[in-house]
Amino acid sequence: MVRSLARCVTQGAGVVLIAACLSCVPQVFAAVEPITPNATIEQMQRAAANVRAGRTLTPKTWPGGARVAVCISVDIDNESTWRDNPLPVKLSEGEYGALEGLPRILSTLDEFHVPASFYVPVLSAALHPQMIPDIVKRGRHEIGVHGWVHEEASKIDDPEKEARLLSQAVECLTKAAGQRPRGIRAPSWDFSLNTLSLIRQAGFAYDTSMMAMDQPYELNSNGAPTGLVEIPINWITDDYEYYEPEASGSLPSPEAVYKIYQAEFDGAYQERTLFVLTMHAHVTGHRSRIVVLRRLLAYMKSKPKVWFATLGQVADYVKHQGGAP
Ligand SMILES: [Zn+2]
Repeated sequence: MVRSLARCVTQGAGVVLIAACLSCVPQVFAAVEPITPNATIEQMQRAAANVRAGRTLTPKTWPGGARVAVCISVDIDNESTWRDNPLPVKLSEGEYGALEGLPRILSTLDEFHVPASFYVPVLSAALHPQMIPDIVKRGRHEIGVHGWVHEEASKIDDPEKEARLLSQAVECLTKAAGQRPRGIRAPSWDFSLNTLSLIRQAGFAYDTSMMAMDQPYELNSNGAPTGLVEIPINWITDDYEYYEPEASGSLPSPEAVYKIYQAEFDGAYQERTLFVLTMHAHVTGHRSRIVVLRRLLAYMKSKPKVWFATLGQVADYVKHQGGAP
């Protein structure tokens, strides 16, 4: 599997397997018009219509009578975080995710026997091909798409190029993981106006890039249901904002971060919906922070009727039980 990924990556631009039908993709470019004080109501509504929240998909009950679904997710951004200026020291900060962070996260998940979803830019997998096999061999985790080099879709400004990058990423992850990824998390949680069309055309079971609700929902586009399940994320339950340099040291305490995660889980438990945690291997994987994951898993495991699942399993379940698209 490692060799397959290496071949896929070294062929680079040679891997052009366009899963999307480009003629079906609206030729909409990245630049969007601002919503100005001169906008009419119709213009306001049209400006927001590309991707909107549709109906909620929370089922009456989760599997086994559980009252909440818990999804642990890990974005393996690693070196891709510094791809714009890939100098040695910064790259080493990302490399930490492969060498220390991911092994620590995987062993913690093993300790609690919890499944997780890993979203992997091909760049990260190319630099550390052993990561995906290490994840897959656990037998309970999921690999999802997270870009070719963690590119931001809204900056590509070319639907054909965006489609090609998506197709390349799907192809490489399929070879590395042994099965086609069923979910996508847009790098930097960034969509262009073409992204939703492209991921629908590519046949994904779900997206996990949006923030309109705390519970699973169907994505609408231009007023119509798309049939695509959204497993929403949120900055509040994302480690990056609290720990990374961009946080300017405003909230560096793992103890404080734990309290926020715990309160978000408690709310989901109370509401009988969904809790999604987003981590990054090179961020949570540090020694003082992995204890937060361990403590949170122990807390959630101590509660009755909690269903731990991959995002793909949740998407499948709500699609069939939640009144689904
Ligand atoms: Zn990312």
